[in-house]
Amino acid sequence: MATVWHKSGPIRPPLLAAGFVALACLAMLALSAWREWEARTSYLDNAETDLANLARSLTQHADDTFEIADNTLTVLVNQLELEGTGATAMAKVQTFLARRNPAGRVHGIFVFDETGRWLATTEPVADLAALNNADRDYFQRHQTSPERGTLIGHPVRSRSGGQWIITASRRFNHTDGRFAGVALLTIDVDYFANFYRQFDVGARGAIALLSTGGVILARSQDDGSYVGRDMSHRQLMRELSQRPAAGPYVFTSPLDGIERLSFYRKSSRYPVLMLATEARDDVLAPWRREALIHLAVVVCLVALIALAGFMLVLQLAQRQRMAAALEAKEADFRLLAEQSGDMVMRIGLDELILYASPSSARVVGWLPQQLAGRPALSGVHADDLADVRARVAALRDGRAEEARIIYRTRHRERGDIWVESALRVTRATGGLIDGVVAITRDMTEHKDLEQRLAALATRDGLTGLANRRHFDERLAEEWARARRDGTPLSLLMIDVDHFKPFNDHYGHQAGDDALRAVARMLAVHARRPADLAARYGGEEFALLMPDTDAEGCAQRGEAVLRALQELALPHVHNPPARRITVSIGGATQHAISGSPDGAALIETADRALYAAKERGRDCMVMSGAVIAWPGSRSA
Ligand code: GH3
Ligand code: MG
Ligand code: MG
Repeated sequence: MATVWHKSGPIRPPLLAAGFVALACLAMLALSAWREWEARTSYLDNAETDLANLARSLTQHADDTFEIADNTLTVLVNQLELEGTGATAMAKVQTFLARRNPAGRVHGIFVFDETGRWLATTEPVADLAALNNADRDYFQRHQTSPERGTLIGHPVRSRSGGQWIITASRRFNHTDGRFAGVALLTIDVDYFANFYRQFDVGARGAIALLSTGGVILARSQDDGSYVGRDMSHRQLMRELSQRPAAGPYVFTSPLDGIERLSFYRKSSRYPVLMLATEARDDVLAPWRREALIHLAVVVCLVALIALAGFMLVLQLAQRQRMAAALEAKEADFRLLAEQSGDMVMRIGLDELILYASPSSARVVGWLPQQLAGRPALSGVHADDLADVRARVAALRDGRAEEARIIYRTRHRERGDIWVESALRVTRATGGLIDGVVAITRDMTEHKDLEQRLAALATRDGLTGLANRRHFDERLAEEWARARRDGTPLSLLMIDVDHFKPFNDHYGHQAGDDALRAVARMLAVHARRPADLAARYGGEEFALLMPDTDAEGCAQRGEAVLRALQELALPHVHNPPARRITVSIGGATQHAISGSPDGAALIETADRALYAAKERGRDCMVMSGAVIAWPGSRSA
């Protein structure tokens, strides 16, 4: 058995599919990771924008607040310089202050003389003269500096209320320019802190107002340790002069180690800056929640795709194995089919030829490619077609698994030929019948042999006439037909005279030749198709003549006698003619009047033959009448 090796291609589809699925999964993961990273960046960007906006608004707020203080102080200082600090002037100032005493931003307003003594205040103080602020930082700075602008000082604890306050102060002069005292306006730190707390910057975020010198003026979240703290050593404050007016600032708090995002903005008018800060973790918390949900969904999806892909790849691999096995089977089939001397065909359920092996050229004279696609039964002989069709239908319907049919089909050059086909159904993988495989061989030679054998069985070997058995069969048939049709049936029994001495004298071979010559002559006299000349046995012959009456029968016997005379085959031991002669017994019988079978006809003819011998041979005796030769005699 031949083995066919199958090589798999350089890239196997299942591997390719697996790679594709893996790539798709990776791409999905990468895409969603990238998307999340983008979302994170946008969260941080948004936080920065929010902080920047917050810093801008709050800087405006601080500016407004300090502007109120500035304006108030300017008016107050102008009045003090114009009217001095005399009793009447101070009474007027006190009235101004009473009117000016605001609720909200401004905590209190004060006027000190050049020694620091209190001259006027919005505070409810009983004895002004007992209080002195000469020790205050802002006082000393005004005292020593001729600078006339508003000074925003470090936060201090209020001498009157004890709470943290921010001071805004301005020097006023005597008319000759000497230092005359200080006008002071204080702003409650809590005012800023309360305002800042309205904005949400997360639990760990803060909004702070700082002096450009680095001291915290106010902070939204304050446990009491922030206000007044000096932050000048921090990087932002150290670099502040080189930095732009506003910008982001990212730092890790040395206190809690948490990374913070912040945005600062310097006031354009006052030496303060706003710093809005948010913990990076707080900014990213909502993003982290969303990203986790997204990631979970994507991972589930990818897992699902991977699983489906895996199943698909498994199925693909199995299908490929099956296809390879099928291909191997098909290759084996073709190898066998192509090696075979018989024509192998694969026929579909529609009776069209799907495949024909190269032997088709020899068996039916058509090339395989000429047969492919043609109806398989197109060449079948009309007489055999019904039978072949019925057998094929039985295969197709599943009533038979295989069949063996002998029929005639057309050869391209030789005309009709006898072929034998072995048919077998083929089934698809599911077990359903999907066609038929037919193996066809030329049976013409076989058929010829069969016909010759059949002829041998009915012919006599020596003379070529019908043999005794065939004669008996034909007699029975003709008897039955004569009976049916009511026609006469005639028989001549012919026996060669004194043939034993002929053999003895001329030899057996010459005897055979003489018998053949007589047989040839008889064959000529079996003129009509229905006539039958037969060798009845030894040197005895029979001539059966259907539909022939007694007269016709006698005429035929006479003709035989005449023919022998003409032949004139020498026979020295057959006096007086000295040539081969025969004796003939004839019988004609109408079936209706006779016995039920042909045996009676033979018997009658035999008796007439015996009579002819008795009469001296070389003559014919008809049953019921003797026809003499050369003259005629009666039996
Ligand atoms: P009769 O006139 O009474 O018929 O005499 P006969 O000699 O013909 O009759 P018989 O029956 O005694 O002899 C028949 C002979 O025919 C015997 C045999 O030698 C011869 N014979 C029979 N068959 C053949 C044959 O096939 N070939 C040859 N050469 N001779 C045969
Ligand atoms: Mg005889
Ligand atoms: Mg004889």
